[in-house]
Amino acid sequence: MPGICSGELITAIAMTEPAIGSDLASMATSAIRDGDHYVVNGAKTFITNGINADLVIVAVKTDPSERHKGMSLLVIERGTEGFERGRNLNKVGLHSQDTAELFFNDCRVPVTNLLGTEGMGFIHLVENLAQERLSIAAGAVAAARQALRWTLEYTHERTAFGQPIAAFQNSRFVLAEMATEIEIAEVFLDRCVEALCAVELTVEEAAMAKWWCTELQKRVVDHCVQLHGGYGFMLEYPIARAYCDVRIQTIYGGTTEIMKEIIGRSLRPES
Ligand SMILES: Cc1cc2nc3c(=O)[nH]c(=O)nc-3n(C[C@H](O)[C@H](O)[C@H](O)COP(=O)(O)OP(=O)(O)OC[C@H]3O[C@@H](n4cnc5c(N)ncnc54)[C@H](O)[C@@H]3O)c2cc1C
Repeated sequence: MPGICSGELITAIAMTEPAIGSDLASMATSAIRDGDHYVVNGAKTFITNGINADLVIVAVKTDPSERHKGMSLLVIERGTEGFERGRNLNKVGLHSQDTAELFFNDCRVPVTNLLGTEGMGFIHLVENLAQERLSIAAGAVAAARQALRWTLEYTHERTAFGQPIAAFQNSRFVLAEMATEIEIAEVFLDRCVEALCAVELTVEEAAMAKWWCTELQKRVVDHCVQLHGGYGFMLEYPIARAYCDVRIQTIYGGTTEIMKEIIGRSLRPES
């Protein structure tokens, strides 16, 4: 923990596999007990920090005959025999972050590296994913706010037909809609952060924040590119980079569809 807090140790969390992402309980990576070790076999993909990580928290099946109840979390360290890193994947955006494949071939991991309780891995993940989803939502709203700032500057400087782009009624309306939606998102986000601090944030509230704020960011960035015209498509402009980076936001950390499933399942008539 000290190394993680000081930033000296880089970590990753490896859940997704080549054949499964949303349907986590169908994962195939196994960890079979052999004396004081687990023997891990399987592959993970799309893992953020996969190349640079010193410690990887790997979701495994300690009981492959079970779904959720068979899952556990193992901490696997850099240099462990049988743990190989694959390609640093070539992505549409987020180029400053590495995203990698990981392979485990008869990788022997001491049982002391079990994180939490055997068979409780899914529960441990669910308990912490709400915070991760809220942090993605916070990043989304901050990025949307920044995209709006860049666009306000640009549309006040750039002119067409003898007036600033921002002076056209269409531009004003689009800018007004974005400013309004960002304000609304910030209010909901603040409420969720208060709930998180009070240890009251529900999985459903975090899912609402995650899908709505990331879909908002996607809409906002797209409108901002439009208001930049052709320059919005040039990577020397930050809004173009934001356009490349935004697309993944509604996919990782749980897709928009899965967030709506989580919320939808919890809805009941009030009476
Ligand atoms: C840049 C990047 C970084 C990532 N970082 C990590 C990481 O650090 N650790 C990690 O473990 N994973 C990571 N991921 C993986 C990411 O979490 C998954 O891509 C995501 O959960 C979706 O899984 P999938 O790609 O297998 O899509 P699938 O699960 O195959 O889904 C494909 C489509 O089907 C839809 N779908 C699936 N099930 C349902 C359903 N029940 N109802 C309706 N629609 C459904 C999905 O919403 C999606 O639109 C990362 C991915 C990327 C691209």
